Amino acid sequence: MIARLDAIRRLADGWGLLTDRSDVRWASGFGGSSGWLLVGPDQAHLVTDARYSERARLEIGSRPIDVVTIDASNDRYRIVGRLAGERSIAVRSSAVTMDDLARFESLGTRLRPVDFSGLRRIKDPLEVETIRRAASIADRALADVVALIDVGVTEVDVRDELDHRMRRYGADGPSYDTIVAAGPRHSAVPHHQPTRYAFAAGDPIVIDVGALVDGYHSDMTRTFVVGEPSDHFRRWYSAVAEAQKAGLDAVRPGVECRVVHEEARRRFGDEAPWFVHGTGHGVGLDIHEEPFLNGSSAATLCEGEVVTVEPGLYRVGFGGVRIEDLVVVRSEGADILTSSPKDLLCLPSRPTT
Ligand code: ZN
Ligand code: ZN
Repeated sequence: MIARLDAIRRLADGWGLLTDRSDVRWASGFGGSSGWLLVGPDQAHLVTDARYSERARLEIGSRPIDVVTIDASNDRYRIVGRLAGERSIAVRSSAVTMDDLARFESLGTRLRPVDFSGLRRIKDPLEVETIRRAASIADRALADVVALIDVGVTEVDVRDELDHRMRRYGADGPSYDTIVAAGPRHSAVPHHQPTRYAFAAGDPIVIDVGALVDGYHSDMTRTFVVGEPSDHFRRWYSAVAEAQKAGLDAVRPGVECRVVHEEARRRFGDEAPWFVHGTGHGVGLDIHEEPFLNGSSAATLCEGEVVTVEPGLYRVGFGGVRIEDLVVVRSEGADILTSSPKDLLCLPSRPTT
């Protein structure tokens, strides 16, 4: 954990201030919603308020970080300014607001932007194991719930069952708002919000589900059909499955993220215009984090990163297909953490009585 503080010191080249909640958690262990971590050349301070000071001490444990509590005469800006003195402070520019800037300026404290985004990209073995645990909880919940899907069941029914079972199997909650998107319209919306729409025979169902464990996320998507899919839908499913395999095969250290995206995308041929998003993203303390696997990414994959590979095709009125796995980048290629079956699962549509 001291190595993490040292990594911040190296990047900051002097004083650094982490204001992003996930950055603070990664470096200090403190997971509360109100905390800034100020790291100096040979000291570190977590600035929080009285609601969290006791929890912060507990979660920080033996790390060499002092907890400083805000009070009526000492807000967090004054505390940070006083501790850093005359020195300028490195911040992640996307994690400070105009208000923060104005307050620091009024106190004469100088900030400078530093790219802290790479700090959390490579996961250590404990982080990987936590994410693996989250992924297996989602696998288990999905296996249970798929057996309940039938004509007449609704999107929110499936969402609620998944969320409940993930908690029961040890998750702190869902990793993000679980997506259950059914039918020719909803399944074509990549981030559809579940409704009371009831499944009908022939409906595609896209389920995007992940679990949250100790602050770490998992992320997985599978696509099903109620009853018999059309030939056209089968072709789309095979195209997405091939693109996903091509993306997975391309994952290894040293490969540009842009190339993984292109490898997946080019499998679509004429259907490529229906692939409307990037191929994947990093996953960790945030559900979407660096690196991003899309056409404009300048990042290169490194061993130990955890990323998704999730191509899809979407056409409103016809339907959607997405297949998403979560993988660790290893020297020998992608180590897949999600293990739910990927063959097109045609769920029996039992006649209703
Ligand atoms: Zn997802
Ligand atoms: Zn994803």
